[in-house]
Amino acid sequence: MSTAVTPDLTTHSREVVRTITHWIGGKAVAGGSGRASDVYNPATGHVQATVPLANKAEMDLAVAKAQAAYPEWAAQPPLRRARVLFRFRELFEQNLDKFAAIITSEHGKVLSDAKGEATRGLEVVEFATGIPQLLKGEYSEQVGTGVDSWSMRQPLGVVAGITPFNFPAMVPMWMFPVALACGNCFILKPSERDPSASLLIAELLKQAGLPDGVFQVVHGDKEAVDLILEHPGIAAVSFVGSTPIAEYVYTKGTAHGKRVQALGGAKNHMIVMPDADLDQAADALVGAAFGSAGERCMAISIAVAVTNATADALIEKLLPRMAALQISPGTEPGAELGPLVTGIHLEKVKSYVALGKTEGAELLVDGRESVLPKGEGFFLGACLFDHVKPEMRIYKEEIFGPVLGIVRANNFETAIKLINEHEFGNGTSIFTRDGDTARDFAHHVQAGMVGINVPIPVPMAFHSFGGWKRSLFGDHAMHGPEGVRFYTHIKTVTARWPTGIRVGVDTSMPTLG
Ligand code: NAD
Repeated sequence: MSTAVTPDLTTHSREVVRTITHWIGGKAVAGGSGRASDVYNPATGHVQATVPLANKAEMDLAVAKAQAAYPEWAAQPPLRRARVLFRFRELFEQNLDKFAAIITSEHGKVLSDAKGEATRGLEVVEFATGIPQLLKGEYSEQVGTGVDSWSMRQPLGVVAGITPFNFPAMVPMWMFPVALACGNCFILKPSERDPSASLLIAELLKQAGLPDGVFQVVHGDKEAVDLILEHPGIAAVSFVGSTPIAEYVYTKGTAHGKRVQALGGAKNHMIVMPDADLDQAADALVGAAFGSAGERCMAISIAVAVTNATADALIEKLLPRMAALQISPGTEPGAELGPLVTGIHLEKVKSYVALGKTEGAELLVDGRESVLPKGEGFFLGACLFDHVKPEMRIYKEEIFGPVLGIVRANNFETAIKLINEHEFGNGTSIFTRDGDTARDFAHHVQAGMVGINVPIPVPMAFHSFGGWKRSLFGDHAMHGPEGVRFYTHIKTVTARWPTGIRVGVDTSMPTLG
């Protein structure tokens, strides 16, 4: 096995440009397409690596390796597949600090957050180790005279995952542990902006005893995504990323006969009711809006304060908390707000801050003027807008940066209507002490994941993750029971054994009579 695939972090700090490889057929494979993309260290703003962008020959090779490995892997008893995941779980935990360091160096998020992401990913591995139980079917005896019926779940074949930059370990881990446990082979196309965590995953899976070809990493951009979507050897595609690309992947993938689940963008609202514990709400908002520099699909980007008095009191509590945030490279002790992922993304977020002012929202805190770490890193301080209105672009569109907008609403009905009319429906939350209001909210709100006095209601691995409306294209959310359904076909068997009863020829639809 190659030792050169996962980054040597001492090399990182010297900013010597490293060449990243694919992982095909159980080993590191150098890119052969002649195309590559830069990988930055967002804290310094410097290029630290280049990642190859796959061509057709490389994708074909990965699919061929997966197809060759599939029959034997699919035939393994589920408990044996689970045992590989048990060993992977141990190895992953031993390497948690290494994962966190890789994620921070390529994504920019602070180390504690990177470790949290890896830990949440690990929970899906733990869930998937229960696969013998999860694959149990249903059995009905005597559905007709001498006739029994049962169902079983079988793997799909070769499946692919296409993942975003913002969770380079956790989002792939929403997918492959369940896919592999169900008996599929998995090809991962990670984000080209932070591709290295996926290679450490590949190495550890091999160490855990996973046969070559069952899990592979093929780096790339739109070209690689299109090759996946068009490839006749790939049965299903899991996608997580922005809404326009999610819709594209869903439309093109299903047109090519694939099963597709495509999770898209978000604009998550948190309602703050007048009876809420405002200290708790302000703490929660600062974490949920500015954690990971706002680059989370479950980040809260809109606070809906019910009544002007609530808005004023909330702002008073937010301002000192925002001013106290430590903006620094994610590797520094006490770091709370790290850099954005790339210079291009930083400029995009800044342009939204400028736009909000033009649109007439009141910019209470301008993170562009915060004291930022010296150098060329992609830093931006936390930003706060008041008097954001539903017709503004800063309300409608996903900014994906440390920018929180406050919308003032007169009552609960207006607040929930805002959420229900928004094009996205990923996560949402309410802060209140009133059980009636909370229950009403949970029942009526049009979003896939709901928090009650919980700002980021990311479901645990044994539940399923997914939004509504234009935050998810397809019929299945990820991991939990939905994950098992997505990565398997259901087959129902109806069986009659000779019983001495002759049915004779009957051309009508069989019924019990
Ligand atoms: P992105 O859509 O730019 O990229 C996602 C993936 O699609 C990457 O692997 C990328 O290489 C590929 N891609 C990019 N452009 C493409 C194109 N034109 N054609 C085909 N493929 C293309 O997303 P991102 O910027 O990496 O990630 C941030 C986005 O992901 C945000 O919108 C965020 O809300 C969303 N996200 C959603 C969830 C969720 O669960 N709903 C979770 C995490 C992130």
